[in-house]
Amino acid sequence: NLAPNDLNAFWMPFTANRQFKKAPRMFVAAKDMHYTTQDGRQVLDGTAGLWCCNAGHCRPKITEAIQRQAAELDYAPAFQMGHPVAFELANRLIDIAPEGIEHVFYTNSGSESVETALKIAIAWHRARGEGARTRLIGRERGYHGVNFGGISVGGIVNNRKVFGSLLTGVDHLPHTHLPGQNAFTRGQPEHGANLADDLERIVALHGAETIAAVIVEPMAGSTGVLLPPKGYLEKLRAITKKHGILLIFDEVITGFGRLGSPFAAQHFGVLPDMITTAKGLTNGVIPMGAVLTTAEVHDAFMTGPEHLIELFHGYTYSGNPIAAACGVATLETYREEGLFQRAADLAPYWEDALHSLKGLPHVIDIRNMGLIGAVELDPIPGQPTKRAFDAFLAAYDKGILIRTTGDIVALSPPLIITRAQIDDLIGTLGDVLKTL
Ligand code: PMP
Repeated sequence: NLAPNDLNAFWMPFTANRQFKKAPRMFVAAKDMHYTTQDGRQVLDGTAGLWCCNAGHCRPKITEAIQRQAAELDYAPAFQMGHPVAFELANRLIDIAPEGIEHVFYTNSGSESVETALKIAIAWHRARGEGARTRLIGRERGYHGVNFGGISVGGIVNNRKVFGSLLTGVDHLPHTHLPGQNAFTRGQPEHGANLADDLERIVALHGAETIAAVIVEPMAGSTGVLLPPKGYLEKLRAITKKHGILLIFDEVITGFGRLGSPFAAQHFGVLPDMITTAKGLTNGVIPMGAVLTTAEVHDAFMTGPEHLIELFHGYTYSGNPIAAACGVATLETYREEGLFQRAADLAPYWEDALHSLKGLPHVIDIRNMGLIGAVELDPIPGQPTKRAFDAFLAAYDKGILIRTTGDIVALSPPLIITRAQIDDLIGTLGDVLKTL
């Protein structure tokens, strides 16, 4: 249903080629809350790039930290060597992480953080003499990146079906028990809470002694801002603990203030064994991710040279100085400007603004938490995703950047957004919806 130019542009950052020059939409500059288009227009960033630029764009402190680090120590191996910036960032991460999280494994993206966490989970059980624990459990509609482990535990069938068998021994917790209904909305807490009991069903089916870990996004972002039913995460924690299964929170989107606290784990008051991060760690500016673990999980995974003979894990760019310097400046910016608290303070205003869209044509659900939100539209019969993509195009023309996933419009502005800019973003989205 898309014009050829739109098809080219849909995936353009991933498939840059000669046609790239002809793409209808390109950003050439950015500052704070706005992008500048090729034809000189300002576009309000309603998505923090791809849910990553939590401090806004081209912040001088971050830019200067990168420049300074590049001039001073451009690269240093993370293997058998170290450099101070990686340690400084790790310490700052642990300072804001939930109590009990004490170690950092560096990666270069959210996808790599997921692969790393899944490997750590299996290796951790093995180091404890529980080598049969290799099964992994994800959730329907979960998104954990695009690499083999991530698409295996991920709950998006389309992302994995052409690859045949992936990781073996993976199960998915259900997203709903009622076909056609979404349990992860505000409206159905009763229905949703018992979904976590399906973990007991899976454990009974395979035996706890075969299961390594459960991985979930505490609040699924890229599949449409799916709010966990009340008590859901607590129940997952209780069941995993009871059966000696590790719990991994994929906080690639929810990390770094999106819900008003440093991590969703703190927002929900549930401590997982590992937290996967990326995106907001470096304000989206330099690729970097990190897996945060409890001391217990770390100690069994990395027990010194003897263990390393059996197990090597690490990347060429793990904790590289420039990304680490970018991360330090980013965390410093969050702290100085109180941006996590700002997200919490703005959340009620954000909620009211979003819910003002209720009753507009095609709006079938509105979800929000912290500074993230989604407006679900009824699909055009026989043309799934078209309605939301039309909204995206119209929004861009009217000067706001939104993101669409299926027929859902997702919003996650930089945490520096003002109330006036929230009015502008949501007001413009409302104008767009009226034209659909
Ligand atoms: N996990 C989650 C929860 C994500 O939202 C994403 C990216 N949207 C990823 C993993 C993958 O991150 P990346 O694109 O950096 O590989």
